[in-house]
Amino acid sequence: MLKPGSTIGILGGGQLARMIALAAAPLGLKAHIFAPEAGSPAFEVAAAYTEAAYDDEAALERFARAVDVATYEFENVPVATAEFLSEKAPVHPGARALGITQDRLVEKSFIAGLGIEVAPFAAVNDAAELEHALAHIGRPSVLKTRRFGYDGKGQVMLREADEADTAFDAIGRHPAVLEGFVPFVREVSVVAARRADGAFAAYEVTENEHRHHILHRSTVPANVTPSAEASAHAIARRIGDALGYVGVFAVELFVVGEGVDQRIVVNEIAPRVHNSGHWTLDGAETSQFEQHVRAIAGWPLGSPARRGVRVEMTNLIGSEADHWHKVLEEPGAHLHLYGKAEARPGRKMGHVTRVFWG
Ligand code: AMP
Repeated sequence: MLKPGSTIGILGGGQLARMIALAAAPLGLKAHIFAPEAGSPAFEVAAAYTEAAYDDEAALERFARAVDVATYEFENVPVATAEFLSEKAPVHPGARALGITQDRLVEKSFIAGLGIEVAPFAAVNDAAELEHALAHIGRPSVLKTRRFGYDGKGQVMLREADEADTAFDAIGRHPAVLEGFVPFVREVSVVAARRADGAFAAYEVTENEHRHHILHRSTVPANVTPSAEASAHAIARRIGDALGYVGVFAVELFVVGEGVDQRIVVNEIAPRVHNSGHWTLDGAETSQFEQHVRAIAGWPLGSPARRGVRVEMTNLIGSEADHWHKVLEEPGAHLHLYGKAEARPGRKMGHVTRVFWG
């Protein structure tokens, strides 16, 4: 168990690291950020930062000596980096969770192996395997690179008329998985925390609306049946237990069907705090960022209970953040800006949370 005054090391310097560092401060903990990009948004709110590449062993060594526990804000931290660090400091979540969730094929096999429903899937390494997978899974289907995909990048839909070879070209002919298209009625997620001793706390299921493959808005409560809500929580718990997970993670889910026929299909696991959990900053008793800090520190988990009758989180993408002034004028709206200098299209610049009481 960490003592107040300890230092949390965070790999990655984006908004998620920034919000973890900000949540650590009122608990009397310090943050030390490790990221390769100059001017990373988390640097300016941390007690210390190291600007170095993830394979810079000398820098990692110094970082490991300076922190009491290490964590990360994104799943594409090289597994070798996590393994190197874990010889010198506790790393939560561990390298295993990272390794499984970095590869869509390994991840899907892992989830299916727990008896949890995922879209039908098959490995695709070359054109012949793609033809074989299409014959097996059918269309429409989605071809995704095994690694480094996010916000819809590295994936392409295959409808009836689409040429398989053109689709494979579109994802750079990288090792891939073909997934059957899930006819979902809505997309939801569960954000949950697990401690090393198995203590577990899940937030309410969150309903997520995407625009151009990027999360636009999250709302709680989600429009799902109580039994779908319970099954989403059970799924998160089973995944957390099977990974021996420590920290906050998210499970992205598809809701299929309505009423009594409603069921949950897992899309993917994010081994970190998640955009669909940002509503918890103002809309829950404990934010996901504080919860992550508590979990990796070995401290009691906080209450995940919602505040108000409904909470909404809206992302500010690119130039949408130019309207920050309007948000500040709105009673009850909470503005969160990430301190990014340049508002490129598609870039997450901040978000707004709104808690409704009536
Ligand atoms: P991902 O990068 O896997 O999170 O996918 C991004 C988005 O693409 C998801 O949020 C869905 O809207 C859509 N999508 C991905 N996979 C499927 C699938 N198998 N069936 C239907 N929609 C999908």
